[in-house]
Amino acid sequence: MNVLVTGAAGYIGSHAVKWLLEQGHDVTALDNLSRGHRAAVPAGADLMQLDLAQTEAIATVLKDRKIECVMHFAALAYVGESVTEPLRYYQNNTGGTISLLQAMERAGVARMVFSSTCATYGVPERMPIVERMKQEPINPYGWSKLFVERILKDHAAAHPDFAFAALRYFNVAGCAPDGSLGEDHDPETHLIPVLLLAALGKRERVEVFGDDYPTPDGTCIRDYIHVEDLVSAHSLVMEHLRPGDQRFYNLGIGRGYSVREIIDAAREVTGVDFEVRVGPRRPGDPPELYADPSRIQQELGFAARHTDIREVIKTAWRWFKDHPEGYGSAK
Ligand code: UDP
Repeated sequence: MNVLVTGAAGYIGSHAVKWLLEQGHDVTALDNLSRGHRAAVPAGADLMQLDLAQTEAIATVLKDRKIECVMHFAALAYVGESVTEPLRYYQNNTGGTISLLQAMERAGVARMVFSSTCATYGVPERMPIVERMKQEPINPYGWSKLFVERILKDHAAAHPDFAFAALRYFNVAGCAPDGSLGEDHDPETHLIPVLLLAALGKRERVEVFGDDYPTPDGTCIRDYIHVEDLVSAHSLVMEHLRPGDQRFYNLGIGRGYSVREIIDAAREVTGVDFEVRVGPRRPGDPPELYADPSRIQQELGFAARHTDIREVIKTAWRWFKDHPEGYGSAK
């Protein structure tokens, strides 16, 4: 299939490009390179440096490349930043998607797989999270994604041939097992990369954001899905999309790990006893989030392959050891 991947120079988008190329798809990569890395786009995909706001230019790419499906990863994704700069998030994530949909409409492209997030659920009343639960985000990032889900529904209602899937990610972790791609954010705030940077001596210590939550060890519980499983789910969903489809799937492994458990696993994988301190809670962190992934399992037969957190961390450790400066360095 001819696929356009937006956000192709980012962490998840670059892994998606790699996976799609390996599956024999023809991939066009799109990124404005505001946060992504040119070097992250696998050889074999042509990179178009365009912003989502460039509707006409994107429509031309879609037509010229005879694109059949858009995988839409491009987004700003820092919760804290979304609180201080909400307009930027709504403009980029929500407005950018409207522009992309307009380009698709002009070019006659009627299939989209969209990166949504479990942040659209806010603080759920029950665990595990099933797709039909109430969605009430607690930050602008979550709202910027939930608005897109709404827009997709309305757009689909008006265009019976249009098909989309919104995939609600839990915590995405790990790197390409062959070591070719990784995670390189600036600033890096995600737990597993922070632990591995501490193991490398690039951070003095790690701070646990609160150990007084109502969980067994007092630290927050999250559901970590390996990036390769995540992107393989995207291509599976893409292949099943039929005109008129509106699909919503959670993407997690269905079990949670506490921050303490992740720290122990990272110490074991790296063999480094990096310093850990307990600090205050980080505002906006729900105590516990994990998916009920059974809908995508039952409907499409998807099951995550990387379910041992040590194995997940090992794939990331390989990348961080070989690329201590991220894409700016290679050993
Ligand atoms: N966390 C932490 N210290 C850090 C980074 C994260 O204790 O330096 C915790 C955070 O409070 C959350 C979990 O680790 O409970 C996962 O955080 P991350 O930022 O990786 O993902 P999020 O769940 O916010 O999407």
